[in-house]
Amino acid sequence: MTHPSADLLQRFSFDDTVIRGEIAHLNTSYQEVLDRHQYPDVVARPLGELMAATALLSSSLKFKGRLTLQVRLPGNISLLQSETDEQGRLRAIARYNTEQASDELTLVDGQLVITLEPEQGQRYQGIVAIDGGNVAEALENYFEQSEQLPTRFWLACNTGTAAGFMLQRMPETTTAKHDPDDWNRIHHLATTLKHDELLQLGNETLLHRLYHEEDIRLYPATDLSFYCTCSHPRIATALKQLGEAELRNIIEESGRVEINCDFCQQQYQFTSDDVDEMFAQSKVH
Ligand SMILES: [Zn+2]
Repeated sequence: MTHPSADLLQRFSFDDTVIRGEIAHLNTSYQEVLDRHQYPDVVARPLGELMAATALLSSSLKFKGRLTLQVRLPGNISLLQSETDEQGRLRAIARYNTEQASDELTLVDGQLVITLEPEQGQRYQGIVAIDGGNVAEALENYFEQSEQLPTRFWLACNTGTAAGFMLQRMPETTTAKHDPDDWNRIHHLATTLKHDELLQLGNETLLHRLYHEEDIRLYPATDLSFYCTCSHPRIATALKQLGEAELRNIIEESGRVEINCDFCQQQYQFTSDDVDEMFAQSKVH
């Protein structure tokens, strides 16, 4: 039995149909993000929903690499960003104007940006407009436009916990054909799902409540976790963009360069020796 207070992703499918789904529960992984930032509620909630959506989509990563969802907006909350790798290791960040932090988030005149970055191979980016609605609807538009796979999302977030539920109609195979009645019925039943049920019920109970008359198959759950990809060498690569003279100036004034990772707040320090090393290679030429 899966428990809603775990950090798990679980797939299910309906026998003799081309319909499958995923359920994600985020607890520790979401709290790790909240522990590192003092996000007000209006920021923390949509960020949790975006993390849940990212977790749902991690199941579709067929390669080693990263998937990033960004909500870019012109208002007080300018960016919500959530990332995962193929192992469901997540991190997230928000950028917002602290003085207007209590203003409600309005998803108008914005963009949803989906970026896929395989370790090997071509980076892909898809963008859909966000104008009204919520994160779930923006994702649904994306799948409608770019993947041609009808996909529906239910996202919920409460203090310290986030959850997501997804239904997807896969392409037909030789053995499983698409039947519009199946999709309509299964989708319709999911529309009765309440936020509290999604957040609080174990997956078996939730699926039984919605689909006790369907032949449903539940697959083994996989872990979701918080993980930041930052490291001393990665930060060094980013710092290098400032140029050697600027870095030497900072070290002269402050003794070292100190920088915090935006995502996890881990502090990295760079001394004059580190700067020597950063630019040593370029000096050979
Ligand atoms: Zn980090």
